[in-house]
Amino acid sequence: MTVLEMQDVVKDYRLRDGLRTTRLRAVDQVSFVLEPGRTVALVGQSGSGKSTIAKLLMQLERPTSGAILVDGEPMRYRGAGAAAYRKAVQMVFQDPFASLNPYHTIGHHLARPVRLHHPGFSRDQVTERVLDLLRRVRLEPAGDYADRRPHELSGGQRQRVAIARALAPEPAILVADEPVSMLDVSIRLGVLNLLATLQREENLGVLYITHDLATARHFSDEIMVLYRGGVVEYGPADDVILDPQHEYTQLLAEAAPAPERRLAERGGLPPR
Ligand code: ADP
Ligand code: MG
Repeated sequence: MTVLEMQDVVKDYRLRDGLRTTRLRAVDQVSFVLEPGRTVALVGQSGSGKSTIAKLLMQLERPTSGAILVDGEPMRYRGAGAAAYRKAVQMVFQDPFASLNPYHTIGHHLARPVRLHHPGFSRDQVTERVLDLLRRVRLEPAGDYADRRPHELSGGQRQRVAIARALAPEPAILVADEPVSMLDVSIRLGVLNLLATLQREENLGVLYITHDLATARHFSDEIMVLYRGGVVEYGPADDVILDPQHEYTQLLAEAAPAPERRLAERGGLPPR
């Protein structure tokens, strides 16, 4: 898969209130393109529709109207096309702890997707691939991390395991839904830098979902600002920040978490 595109996608939820049913438009006419080697930031406050867009891309929801195109063809939800898509598009969630089983080692967590996607691998090949995944997310010495269990890692290290697991099927696109918002501020940049390195070195396409405009600017080629389900701003990251067309973007910039914003303003972030 090379290009993933949303065209005028709408997602309505039905809300039942006693006997009445109302409709909530969570995503409103959203269009954008995701491709390998580029990062698009999806920025908006809580409830603006960010996770619904992620769910639509992960096939956990289907659009009410509009189209999702995979290499120009309508998205397939069944059969071989769907299986290939689910391999090509992987997700990293907000809470790394929730997605790891406390009783299993890190090696066990990573071996499962490796075996699933490489049924012909020998035991040794699986182990070698698991160690390789740990090295790719900079958890070294890899053999040491493979033997640990989730509670023996820091939050940032756990999120690196979640990223390693997402990389196991060798995806083309990574959807990262607020991947650092539950981590200590001090370790956020390390995880974001890792995503940036993977995007560059492995030519991944990344959808970086966040409520923080400062990191969106630093880590993304393009920024899309979502407000009440609709895109109010979409363009090259610097243009969106330096010349916002919508008042809401300005408000969001002012509401950005102070430590990160100040770091970015001081130019204190490492170069991409
Ligand atoms: P964000 O990730 O930006 O915080 P969401 O995409 O999770 O926003 O939610 C957008 C809107 O859709 C919110 O008003 C939310 O309450 C609503 N919503 C999300 N999922 C559902 C659902 N399964 N059923 C009903 N409403 C939902
Ligand atoms: Mg969300």
